[in-house]
Amino acid sequence: TVRTRFAPSPTGYLHVGGVRTALYSWLYARQHQGEFILRIEDTDRERSTEEAVQVILEGMAWCGLNHDGDVPRQTQRFDRYKQVIQQLLDEGKAYYCYCSKEEVEQMRAEQMARKEKPRYNGYWRDRQETPPADVQPVVRFKNPLSGNVVFDDMIKGQISVSNEELDDLIIARADGTPTYNFCVVVDDWDMGITHVIRGDDHVNNTPRQINILQALGAQIPKYAHVPMILGNDGQRLSKRHGAVSVMNYKEDGFLPEALLNYLIRLGWANGDQEIFSIEDMLQLFKIENVNSAPSAFNTDKLLWLNQHYIKTGNPERIAEHLAYQFQLLGIDANNGVALPRVVTALAERAKTLREMAESSRMFYVELVDYDTTAVQKHLTADTKTTLSTLCEQFATLTTWQAEPIHAVIHAVSEQLGLKMGKVAQPLRVAVTGGTVSPSIDITLALIGQERTLKRLQQAIG
Ligand code: GLU
Repeated sequence: TVRTRFAPSPTGYLHVGGVRTALYSWLYARQHQGEFILRIEDTDRERSTEEAVQVILEGMAWCGLNHDGDVPRQTQRFDRYKQVIQQLLDEGKAYYCYCSKEEVEQMRAEQMARKEKPRYNGYWRDRQETPPADVQPVVRFKNPLSGNVVFDDMIKGQISVSNEELDDLIIARADGTPTYNFCVVVDDWDMGITHVIRGDDHVNNTPRQINILQALGAQIPKYAHVPMILGNDGQRLSKRHGAVSVMNYKEDGFLPEALLNYLIRLGWANGDQEIFSIEDMLQLFKIENVNSAPSAFNTDKLLWLNQHYIKTGNPERIAEHLAYQFQLLGIDANNGVALPRVVTALAERAKTLREMAESSRMFYVELVDYDTTAVQKHLTADTKTTLSTLCEQFATLTTWQAEPIHAVIHAVSEQLGLKMGKVAQPLRVAVTGGTVSPSIDITLALIGQERTLKRLQQAIG
């Protein structure tokens, strides 16, 4: 059975590039009725934090990329790594190297001076020499001395690296702790990973990892190295370019389905189709068709997709995401109309749920920020009569919905011999505090009868 994994290092946030890789890996597993493992690579204890682990778990859950089984952490597997290191030593596939740091540095300096690629020269490999007593040795893997490591990358095609380019990798440091590349190998082996789908910043590690897997007699997985995402300046997408953490997108009011749809299309296409539900992705995505060149992030397209999902999604579900925005704004969403109605009314007007929440304040909290220019222009002595007439008639309505509200506005404009706009605009300023809102009848319906009457009375003074 197919088993893929996503193996982030918990050193900060969950990068959108990571989410794209995770999505590809998740899709591949699900397309093949396989398993998807989430593994925490926390060997770098200095930089790894528990908080970052939680952020990864939350981010994956928010995206709906569910994993199988528990979440293994490398720091909990040190005994196992040590065991495998011992096994390689016992089998003569690894050896203790007693070179001091200074010696290795000198070796490098000499090689660089000869314009050679700096590499460990294998001094302690197969050496029968009494080791110095004062040096704590590292353990090095005996990389094959000749031949090539060849693998068929599912995205990049065939990759071949000569073993002469690779030196004997340190697999355990002087203090006995295993090194990163080695842990990855043991994990992929123990976890039965069949397809390693990861960022192409790791492509240079792959030949070394394959050599160690081979020495262990492990089945070599298939590899797919996913290109990086770039910012608009052609540099690798980073904080400088704006939001890169998944949680930032959540906070900015994006829907996970929009983000995933956006990410799958970065460097992959199915004709000119733009909209992909998860079902579409499962059916159509082919990892082999991912572009091997990096792609640039385009926020406008993401906004367009977000609005598409706001407009077409189930209002009840979208309301749950909107509720989170209200929480961020510190607004009590129970203090007014039900959120799904807001979603339906404002879907056409908001590109993000944050925007939607911000323009919905007036449905839930008392007005504080009146647009003073609008007030001066529209709330004059003349308009007071209009507003009082509206107020009286609104008070008599027994069903507070857009249609009867519209009928009242219409009737009042006839009665006073005014154009609809001359009635609607002062009304809008009085109840929303400004001149922009969705159609006035819908706006009033969402504000509610009691609040509308209160605001009108306030405006009349
Ligand atoms: N922990 C690595 C990273 O976060 C991923 C390594 C891998 O997938 O093999 O970049």
